[in-house]
Amino acid sequence: MPTLWSQTLIPTLRQDPADAEVPSHRLMLRAGLIRQLGSGLYTYLPLGWRALHKTIEIVRDEMNAAGAAEVLMPALEPIELFADTKRDVEYGENLFRVTDRHGRHAALAPTHEEIITELMAAYVESYRQLPLNLYQIQTKYRDEFRPRFGVLRSREFIMKDAYSFDLTVEGLDTSYRAMYDAYCRIFDRCGLTYEIVEAESGPIGGSASHEFMVLCDTGEDTILKSDKGNYAANIDKCAIGERDLDPDFSGEPTGDLREVSTPDCTTITDLCKQWPKFAGGKLKPQNVLKTLIYRFEGDLTAKEQKEVKELETHGYEDEGFYFYWMVVVRGDHEINEGAVKAEVESVHGRRMGFTPKSMGLHLMDESEAKEAGFEVGFVGPHAHHSLPTKTRARTLILVDREAMQPGFWVAGANKPDHHVMHFNWQRECDLRWLAGDAASDHVTHVADIRKATDGDPSPIGDGGVLREHRGIEVGHVFKLGTKYSDAMGFTVLDEDQKRRSVIMGCYGIGLGRIVAAAIETGHDAHGIIWPASIAPYSVHMVPIKYEGELCKTCLSLAEQLEAAGMDVLIDDRPERPGVKFNDADLIGCPIRLTIGEKGLAQNSVEFKRRADGKAKAELVKLDQVVQRCREALDI
Ligand code: ATP
Ligand code: MG
Repeated sequence: MPTLWSQTLIPTLRQDPADAEVPSHRLMLRAGLIRQLGSGLYTYLPLGWRALHKTIEIVRDEMNAAGAAEVLMPALEPIELFADTKRDVEYGENLFRVTDRHGRHAALAPTHEEIITELMAAYVESYRQLPLNLYQIQTKYRDEFRPRFGVLRSREFIMKDAYSFDLTVEGLDTSYRAMYDAYCRIFDRCGLTYEIVEAESGPIGGSASHEFMVLCDTGEDTILKSDKGNYAANIDKCAIGERDLDPDFSGEPTGDLREVSTPDCTTITDLCKQWPKFAGGKLKPQNVLKTLIYRFEGDLTAKEQKEVKELETHGYEDEGFYFYWMVVVRGDHEINEGAVKAEVESVHGRRMGFTPKSMGLHLMDESEAKEAGFEVGFVGPHAHHSLPTKTRARTLILVDREAMQPGFWVAGANKPDHHVMHFNWQRECDLRWLAGDAASDHVTHVADIRKATDGDPSPIGDGGVLREHRGIEVGHVFKLGTKYSDAMGFTVLDEDQKRRSVIMGCYGIGLGRIVAAAIETGHDAHGIIWPASIAPYSVHMVPIKYEGELCKTCLSLAEQLEAAGMDVLIDDRPERPGVKFNDADLIGCPIRLTIGEKGLAQNSVEFKRRADGKAKAELVKLDQVVQRCREALDI
């Protein structure tokens, strides 16, 4: 049966809604696809739900074809499960927490690794039951810091999440590849143009991951892609090719160290803007040292605690240990936290000769840093001279190679409202403690710790240059390894009757995000231009008047079209044709058929593809309509 406009709810808006920043959000509201209920909460109205539903069916079809089995797990999960893997802490404020009438704590699942691991551990005991891949299509909850852009970043959204279980690493590779390939088919079928990029694994943990990104200027992610087309990565993960940059801290000072009063200038942008007023002359961000303070903590096992005591290394305490790290990059660069974490962990691992059972690094917030004695907003790498003794004993420095080059530097003065100019590494910091490659108690360490930027050499080393793009992450595949099975004791017996941790992968797709990304990359000034596969309807009929012969023709054509596998919306409203045409453009179904007396007099209707924009409609004979629509939809 075709849908009659009057029998459904399509509240199109004439005006652009206020506070919708990106096209997909604006158009989803205007075309009556969604309605906002609260921050990051949306109702899918009939048209929006049809598009989402079609997307879901494509995903389900490809997951089944890839050999995954569908389940449905609760969205509400006991908090203890999260505590097992420490994710109640790691997931941080994004986790929605609830308490039931008995005072028991639970979380609204942001993702389901713990629940599926618990499930599998209950039923899978032998390697013979592996490999397995289970998936679900379920609502997720995340208390996003900044819900925005409509369903692109909401607090409640539908995700397809799949989890694979293997005995061996090779098995995981095969499972991962199967999902990777299924994702390509899914996004192809949804009509998206996408890029597959190497990615960090984030709070989910794990060893390898790829993101599927739809490139568009409004995307929240930054991607770097080699102009040779053979490397692409998320900026959080992107490596930089070889550069001719030995750490060189022997440069002569460019002048005497001079303190400059810089009231209220806690950001580099402000500082550079106001510099001429403070010190005369121009200041560029690449001549400023940006210093951020991280706190590093580790948990030692009992055996390690004993060893550490014997070593009597200062700074380590019985119950664990912590350090402050001053992380320094050039003012025009960003810190790559993944690289910092890796470097800091390896330094501590080397210092102690072993890796503690857990290590964590976080950027300190203002009050935390102040309490430790750092002059927040005005910290310079030479803070050692002014820090309280206890903090000094626990403070190490990590400098990016490019921030360690000779030249003119401005840095924080470690004193409120002041910076210093002519900062010189050799003179201002005691670089006898500079670590080249190695162990022991060096204070200052040098490594590549900045994020890649547009123009950097590609890490492939083939002369390629990295170019920056923006993207929307629609899907993500991870090799998890044994993080969850180890934490939750999920083992199976192998062929030799030995217990082994099961090796996992996890694979997510944001279903609402696919719909929004399709609109973000498929629209014009008049409205949405849907990919046929996920359009709410394939054919939108606009009768000039919905009565008599016109009405009959609509219904008979609709029947034929539906019999041929197309779905049809008939605009039966008593509106002026101009209003109906505008709405048809706004809603953006792939084909518009206009049924009017003039056409019918020639036994024809007007046929128009939405993608052809304002091009003139063509007259198509009634008995050719189905065939013409089929061709246009490629079915
Ligand atoms: P992001 O980096 O955008 O916050 P994520 O990496 O945290 O996303 P995953 O945990 O990888 O997200 O979740 C799998 C998929 O779920 C993502 O690829 C994305 O398509 C979708 N998704 C994640 N967060 C949201 C959200 N807040 N609103 C809508 N979809 C989301
Ligand atoms: Mg992700």
